[in-house]
Amino acid sequence: MSRGRNLRRLLRGLRFRLTAGYFIFFVVLLGGIAALFQGRLTSILDQQAQDLVNQQWAAMKGGYLRIEDNPQTGKPEAFWYYDADDPDESRTVLTIQRVYFVADSNGNVIHDGKTGEEQVSSDYEDIGVDPPAQIRRDVRAAMAAVPPKTLIGWRTRRNKAGVHYLIRSGIVFSEQRHRPCYVAIGIPLTPYESISRQFALIYAGVIPAALILGLLLGWFMAGRALEPVLEVAKAAQRISGSNLSLRIPTRQADDELDYLILTFNRMIERLEASFQQMKQFSADVSHELRTPITAIRGQLEVALFTAKTTEHYRDAIVDALQDIDRLSQIVRALLLLSQAESGQLALQKTRVDLSEVVRDLVEQFQIPAEAERVHLLAEVPAECAADVDRVQIERMITNLLSNAVKFTPEGGHVRVRLRALAGAAEIVVQDTGSGIAKEYLPHIFDRFYRVPGRGTAPGPDQGLGLGLSFVAWIVKAHDGTIEVDSTPGKGTRFTIRLPVGTEKQPGAEMAAQPAMNV
Ligand code: ADP
Repeated sequence: MSRGRNLRRLLRGLRFRLTAGYFIFFVVLLGGIAALFQGRLTSILDQQAQDLVNQQWAAMKGGYLRIEDNPQTGKPEAFWYYDADDPDESRTVLTIQRVYFVADSNGNVIHDGKTGEEQVSSDYEDIGVDPPAQIRRDVRAAMAAVPPKTLIGWRTRRNKAGVHYLIRSGIVFSEQRHRPCYVAIGIPLTPYESISRQFALIYAGVIPAALILGLLLGWFMAGRALEPVLEVAKAAQRISGSNLSLRIPTRQADDELDYLILTFNRMIERLEASFQQMKQFSADVSHELRTPITAIRGQLEVALFTAKTTEHYRDAIVDALQDIDRLSQIVRALLLLSQAESGQLALQKTRVDLSEVVRDLVEQFQIPAEAERVHLLAEVPAECAADVDRVQIERMITNLLSNAVKFTPEGGHVRVRLRALAGAAEIVVQDTGSGIAKEYLPHIFDRFYRVPGRGTAPGPDQGLGLGLSFVAWIVKAHDGTIEVDSTPGKGTRFTIRLPVGTEKQPGAEMAAQPAMNV
């Protein structure tokens, strides 16, 4: 069972598939080359064999063989003319006479005019003498052509021993009466076939050896190429939730694998940051919840052990209720924020007059601002329509305004300005308050973040550090942008730009982004 699984894994593995790819490629390549060479060699050898027979034919017709009509019988007879003492001439004639056959136009073999021998060699008899009927047909067809053909054709024949012969047949005319006679000469193809066979044997030996070598080389090279991938996988396996600080070392090869490692490391970095944020968040949440709970417990215990009058109990209960209010405020805010960030809180966009929204909110804030002796001003155009979620936009402006009023000292100014830009609305909330030092600015949109050194002890006026997280989410959900400019001791300016005409489907889900920062 496990062997079967191992085999299946091996077959599916990249190494096996790469090697199989190489192998198939080599088989096709080498097989193709061999077939091409073999085909070309065969045609060259065929041509050479034909050339040789043609040369013999030309020599024979050029004078070695003459067919003369016997004056007595009237039958054609063959005469071979050559100098028997000349080794070249006698070799040529003997070569021609090895495979030859001469017949009259009726297919009857003719005889030598001097020796009376039948003009057919034993080799020719072995491959089979042409039937007279066939010869008659061939001679008639050749003579019927205009002008008459002297070449009847080429063919290959095999003797009983399996030796192939190339045969050329044609017409030779008798000297006196110009009667057509049938002549066939040929050569054994053994030397040509043996060359061809030798090459085939070489291929048969070399190609499988080359294939096996290629296979081994492919297996080895694929293994080498994949080794770093396995190392990356091993290194990745060592990384777990508890040691996210580990990184896979790059190989300094600046190749695709290094790019993969780099991308992987960056992903781990982001994961680590998210893990860190989550840890921080749960620590913050428990801290935020524990503080009021401890306070409630303390107040109730003190009341239980020391309170003497109803008045004392009453005071303790009022204090406890205030802390419970704060607790439920935190829980509500957290619930809302997590719904927003997980995409469960859908925007309900409608056409809203932002001028009216800003005017109303500024009006509502006049009383708390006056209580703090802060001048609150609004600069709004007569109308500024936008497709937004009214409730969320009100929440956003309320958060910014309450911060501005809270962090601006007596006699300071808070100014809200609304402007209609091309395709967007710009809301600026500016104050002359305490400002935020540069090093804290990147964190102010984080959940539970409060700028240190401003009396972070819990109390009824103490913020939760969640207001700006909401602002950031609302801006993002509306595809807007938020910028903050702040000078400590001089004031802070938040600038928000929201696209106005992009009405989405009511109830469209927001992208679930763990946006702790903007
Ligand atoms: P909180 O509910 O505590 O106000 P926020 O998320 O709204 O939390 O703000 C985060 C921190 O940013 C605040 O604790 C405060 O220190 C700082 N902050 C926000 N707005 C202003 C402002 N207008 N002027 C100065 N500091 C500000």
